[in-house]
Amino acid sequence: MSNIRTRFAPSPTGFLHIGSLRTVLFAYLIAKSQGGKLILRIEDTDKKREVKGAVEKLIKILDWVGIKFDEGPGLINDSANDIGDYGPYIQTKRIDIYKKYADKLLATGHAYRCFCSAGRLQKMRAKQEANKMPPRYDRHCRDLSDKEISIKLENNEPFVIRQKHPKKAEVICKDELRGELKFQTGELEDNVLIKSNGIPTYHFAVVVDDHLMEISHVLRGEEWIPSFPKHVLLYKAFGWSMPKFIHMPLTLNKEGGKLSKRQGDVTVESYKDAGYLPEALINFNALMGWSPYSQTSNEQATKDKNIEILSLSDLVEKFKITDMGKSPGVFDVEKFDYFNGYYIRQKSLDEITELCMPFLKKYWQEKGEESVIKNNKPEYIKKAISLEQERLKKLSEIGELTEFFFIDKLEYLVELLIWKKLSNNEIKNNLELVKKLLEKIPEKNWTNDSIEDALVIYLRAKELKLGDYLWPMRVALTGRKASPGPFDVAEALGKKMSLDRIDIAINKL
Ligand code: GLU
Repeated sequence: MSNIRTRFAPSPTGFLHIGSLRTVLFAYLIAKSQGGKLILRIEDTDKKREVKGAVEKLIKILDWVGIKFDEGPGLINDSANDIGDYGPYIQTKRIDIYKKYADKLLATGHAYRCFCSAGRLQKMRAKQEANKMPPRYDRHCRDLSDKEISIKLENNEPFVIRQKHPKKAEVICKDELRGELKFQTGELEDNVLIKSNGIPTYHFAVVVDDHLMEISHVLRGEEWIPSFPKHVLLYKAFGWSMPKFIHMPLTLNKEGGKLSKRQGDVTVESYKDAGYLPEALINFNALMGWSPYSQTSNEQATKDKNIEILSLSDLVEKFKITDMGKSPGVFDVEKFDYFNGYYIRQKSLDEITELCMPFLKKYWQEKGEESVIKNNKPEYIKKAISLEQERLKKLSEIGELTEFFFIDKLEYLVELLIWKKLSNNEIKNNLELVKKLLEKIPEKNWTNDSIEDALVIYLRAKELKLGDYLWPMRVALTGRKASPGPFDVAEALGKKMSLDRIDIAINKL
C-alpha cells in the first residue's frame, strides 16, 4: 500500500480562494498519481476568521469541482462521523493533543512560558518602532528561573508558550520545487506556540498534525515560506522526520500583480456562479504551475501545447511532481474561457440544457419576467440553447445570447440590416424576395435544410450574392450583429414568427 498522504488544511473562512483550489488540486494529484490518500483537515484555531457553515460550504464546492477526500471530519462523503484513523480532523477538537506536545517541548527546553502582559508587549513594540527595530519579542521571559516560573504559576498568571529558537544558527529548509532554502535563527522571533487560552497557533498545530497524521507531502501557498524555518526547527526539536514540502507559487494576474478581489473574482464559488464548469477549472488550474510537456526540449511546443485538454483522471495519469514549476501561475482569463467553451461544447444537448436552465431562469427573473420560461415550450428553449452552445463561453451568457428567441419586439438600429454598400431600398427589396421565397415553404417542411434550399438554390440560379440577402434576413430574425445562422434561427422561430420579423424589418427600411 502506498504511504503517500497529502492534506488540504484550510481555515474555515467561508469560501475557496482560487489559489487554494490549485493547492488542493496538486495535493490530490500527488496523492492519486501514486495511489495515496488525500486528507481534509480544518484549521480553525483562529476563531476570529471563522464563518458559520464554512466547512460544509467548502466540502460542497470541492465536491462540485470533483475533488473528494479519503479522510477528514464528518461531512465529507456525506458521513456523519470522521472518516479515517487519524482524527479528529478539526483542530479545535485536538486541543489536548497540542497541550501534550507543548509540554514535551517545555520539558526539553525547546519552548518556554512567557508571562508578559499585553501592556508590556505594547510598550516593547512602541519602543522598537521608535528605534526603527524589527518588531520582535525581546525574549524577556526566555531565561526565567524555575523558581520564578513556579511562583507565577502559583499566582495563576496567564502565560503563552513560545518557541525557543537557537540564538545563532543556520536552518536549512528543503522545498521540493526550490531546493534548499537557508535561514538564520537570529532573524526569527520566539513565536507563540500556544496562546494564553490554550489554543495553539498555526505554526504549532500544523507541525503536530502533519506529523501525527503521517503526512508525506505538505503543500501550501508560498506565503508560508518565511515560517518554514520555525516549522523545521519544531520537527528537529521533536526529533521527527520531515515530510516533503512544496510551497505553491502564487497566482498572478496577467499584468503580473496579485489576484485581488478588487480586480474581479477570486473565489471558486464566484466562478461557479459565473457559469464556469468544474472540468475547465481543473484543466486550467492544473496547467498553471504544471505542464505535461515541461520535460520536452522544444520550448515553443511546450508553450503551444499548454492548452492541452486534460480531465482530472488524465491528470492523475500524467502527473509527476518533477514536472511542477516554481514560477508564478498566470491567471489568463482568455485561456480559462477557452477551456470553458471547449467543455461546454462537449456536453450533450440534454446536459447543456440542464446546466443552462438555472442561468436562464435567473436572467429572466432579474428582468422581472419569470413567465418567459413558463410560457415557452421546453423543446423551444432547448432549441434556443442548442443553437448558442457553440458560441457559449460561460453558462451565465446564455440569457443574453438567447434573448432574441423569447422577446416579442426586437430592438435594433436599421443600419444593422444594411449589408456592405447596399442602399436601404435594395435591402428592402431583398428582404421582400426572401419573404416571398419563405412563404412558399409549407409549414410541415419548415426545417433549416428546406429553408436553406429554398433560398440558396434560387439565389444561386439567379447569380445573386448570398450575403446581400442572408445578412439582412439574419438581422431581421435576431436583431443581432452576431448570432447563429439564419436558417437555424428561422427553423427555431417557426414560419409565422420568422415572416413577422422579416415584415417588421421591411417596414423599418
Ligand atoms: N490553514 C492554512 C491556511 O489556510 C493552511 C496552510 C497549510 O496548508 O499548512 O492558509
